[in-house]
Amino acid sequence: MHPDSTQRSEGIALIAFDVDGTLVDHPEGKVIWELLNRRFMGDDRMNHQRYHDYQAGIIDYPTWVALDVGGWIEAGATRPEIMTEVRALRPVDHATEVLHELRDRGYLLAVISGTLDVVLDEFFPEHPFCGVYTNHLEFDAAGRLTGWRATPFDMDGKARALDHLAKRHGLPLLRCAFVGDNVNDLGVARVAGLSVAFNAKSAELESIAHVVIRSPSLAPVAALFPGCGDPPVGDGLP
Ligand SMILES: [Mg+2]
Repeated sequence: MHPDSTQRSEGIALIAFDVDGTLVDHPEGKVIWELLNRRFMGDDRMNHQRYHDYQAGIIDYPTWVALDVGGWIEAGATRPEIMTEVRALRPVDHATEVLHELRDRGYLLAVISGTLDVVLDEFFPEHPFCGVYTNHLEFDAAGRLTGWRATPFDMDGKARALDHLAKRHGLPLLRCAFVGDNVNDLGVARVAGLSVAFNAKSAELESIAHVVIRSPSLAPVAALFPGCGDPPVGDGLP
């Protein structure tokens, strides 16, 4: 933990979370995009190629999403099939309890993620969030996947989303925290008032984050935020 982390956490009023690898995970470390490409396209090796093409500037983010989701539509994907793959993921231990505890302590909570909205709907249906920035899937009345809306707020866009949230709630970025795990969180981690690398898959993210946590449970994240405005009343967590 950086020396000024305790001081920084004292002023935090809003906490934004990444989803894949932060609020949910998978026994093999897969994200929902890999699971759905494997199901509908036969394998998930194109995920690495498309990420490489995105990094190289060969495709932009909306094109990347269109390649993936367009392929699933061509394969005849339905909501029940998609939800079967979503359920191969699981919430990180104590994720639901931590979110509710942080909300009860007075923090505004948000999601800024490159995940699909169906993942959040499945595992956090109560939506304790004041703002949600994810990719969106569209289905027809028969449950067939028919379209999508790519988020403009993944990768470097995550920092813009945090800025939107801060402005909407009249907060300086210094009072906004971000919790994430991977390279697509680097931009937002650099601008957040307090950045937390949670089970990071990116050494660079760990090197720039104010706090590094490696834990099978999200509970240590709650310990960073004792309360917004009012003094903390117990931890309430295992
Ligand atoms: Mg992630």
